[in-house]
Amino acid sequence: MQDNLNTNLPTSLNEELNNAGFVLTSADKLINWARSGSMWPMTFGLACCAVEMMHTGASRYDLDRFGIVFRPSPRQSDVMIIAGTLTNKMAKALRRVYDQMPEPKYVISMGSCSNGGGYYHHSYSVVRASDRIVPVDIYVPGCPPTPESLLYGIMQLQKKIKRERHFSAPKNKESK
Ligand code: SF4
Repeated sequence: MQDNLNTNLPTSLNEELNNAGFVLTSADKLINWARSGSMWPMTFGLACCAVEMMHTGASRYDLDRFGIVFRPSPRQSDVMIIAGTLTNKMAKALRRVYDQMPEPKYVISMGSCSNGGGYYHHSYSVVRASDRIVPVDIYVPGCPPTPESLLYGIMQLQKKIKRERHFSAPKNKESK
């Protein structure tokens, strides 16, 4: 935990503080550490990819160890995993669920169908990419993606969250 929170202080000073039971960090790092370590995805499966998502949450891959707990309500969720084929009929409901989630919220698109329509790209009834309906942060490729792929996508989202800045200026501005 301390590795994630420590600022760029000299190592000796950091060690001294840690030994005394203190952690010196920035608000940005603390907020990002808390958010990336407690992502709560909306329970939302659309097709066969959802089975792999369930597999990822079960005992073998154990999403709980990342602080990830599926929630039955969009109002308690901050991540949406679009797992499966998004049909035109379902798109409106998907958008409504997304709109009901509080900020900050993130979207993982799981599988070829969600990423770009997949096998059904030319179908009259399927949305050709879920990012036409909601903004997507991470795309996980595959048909279906393995649980390892989804885990990797989740870890990429964690990295993205850890780079967010709430109070401090972006790095390129700081260096001016
Ligand atoms: S990407 Fe493949 S496994 Fe996933 S929903 Fe589409 S057809 Fe099913």
